[in-house]
Amino acid sequence: MDRTKQLANGIQMPRLGLGVWRVEETDATNSVKWAIENGYHLIDTAAVYKNERGVGEGIRQSGAKREELFITTKLWNDDQGYDTTHQAFNDSLARLGLDYVDLYLIHWPVEGKFNDSWRAMEEIYASGRAKAIGVSNFHQHHIEQLMTTAKIKPMVDQIELHPTLTQENLRTYLAEEGIAVEAWSPLGQGKILQNPTLVEIGKNHQKSAAQVIIRWHLQSDIIVIPKSVHEARIKENFAVFDFELTEEEMMRINHLNINERLGADPDNFNF
Ligand code: NAD
Repeated sequence: MDRTKQLANGIQMPRLGLGVWRVEETDATNSVKWAIENGYHLIDTAAVYKNERGVGEGIRQSGAKREELFITTKLWNDDQGYDTTHQAFNDSLARLGLDYVDLYLIHWPVEGKFNDSWRAMEEIYASGRAKAIGVSNFHQHHIEQLMTTAKIKPMVDQIELHPTLTQENLRTYLAEEGIAVEAWSPLGQGKILQNPTLVEIGKNHQKSAAQVIIRWHLQSDIIVIPKSVHEARIKENFAVFDFELTEEEMMRINHLNINERLGADPDNFNF
């Protein structure tokens, strides 16, 4: 399996990375350093996680070359709008201590604002300070609304996606549009790791339920960013390139879908 996925603009995005939501600044530094030392290239943060400084510090402590890494951050809702997007982006870069990010995402589809935010994002992309731009938590209709004014189509949509929320319809639409799918809360925030089907499939391969889920995402062409602050788990979550789920196992996992959201519905959020 390829370790990277080519985005619509030709950029290679790693298919497996580390997420750092609800990770304190100092823990973020260690987690990022451990992840990079253990083979990760993709790190997913956001302005609202309040740990961009810690992420930047982890990158520096890892000693990795900048061009070998793929760093994502996101525009928070309060900062949406044309001028404020430019400002928020500059602030994120400064906190990270970087002169570019690999991917900048609109975090949530704030009605009445995201088209203006996107115009600023297109300029940021043109300036070379974001190598790719995309959205998060956008349903099909949000993307259609964005495209009424956009010059550039989002390259990625990062959405809640795990075996109990498989988002088949949205994934089909995104695939048709050439927009890469990235899963947030890919492990269902750890709540589905005791699921007997996942545990049993893991036993077939001497793998944990977490590894089975990550492998299911990869084999489904979904970019995946599991979160952990423990070095052993960070390592475990990356040890997924040495086994393959059978078609039958993939189908069994697909059937765990119950359309269960752990986070807000993008049509109904109040933050
Ligand atoms: P996740 O699904 O990655 O689950 C993380 C939890 O699973 C951990 O806190 C831990 O309890 C458990 N876990 C992880 N690895 C394990 C292992 N090997 N064994 C046992 N337990 C393990 O949850 P998440 O953090 O919500 O999502 C991942 C990332 O997605 C976030 O860190 C963030 O970067 C991103 N995210 C984005 C949005 C968005 O709106 N765009 C929203 C939520 C999360």
